[in-house]
Amino acid sequence: MSLTSHSAGYGLIVGPGGTEEEHDTETCQHCNSVWVTRSTNGDRVTHSGGKCMVCMQPICPKCIGQGCIPLEKRLDMLELENKLKIERQFDILESRNRIC
Ligand SMILES: [Zn+2]
Ligand SMILES: [Zn+2]
Repeated sequence: MSLTSHSAGYGLIVGPGGTEEEHDTETCQHCNSVWVTRSTNGDRVTHSGGKCMVCMQPICPKCIGQGCIPLEKRLDMLELENKLKIERQFDILESRNRIC
């Protein structure tokens, strides 16, 4: 039933009074968050979202204008940062040893 791309989801919520609310969701390819793109419930906050012109993937309102940093790249960067931190600590220890 989803109307948009592969990352889109579809949900149906049945309220206490038997009222049905249908909504479509998208998954942001930059931060992996999910937002509602359209809903039959007029009270629900919806956003059509955006599209990253670098990786051509759907992105959430928060990531619009943030530049392209796909999730995988972010994870790589985190790993690299941790590695650098460990190496730096090692350097500090070594230089201490040299002083003593
Ligand atoms: Zn995002
Ligand atoms: Zn991107």
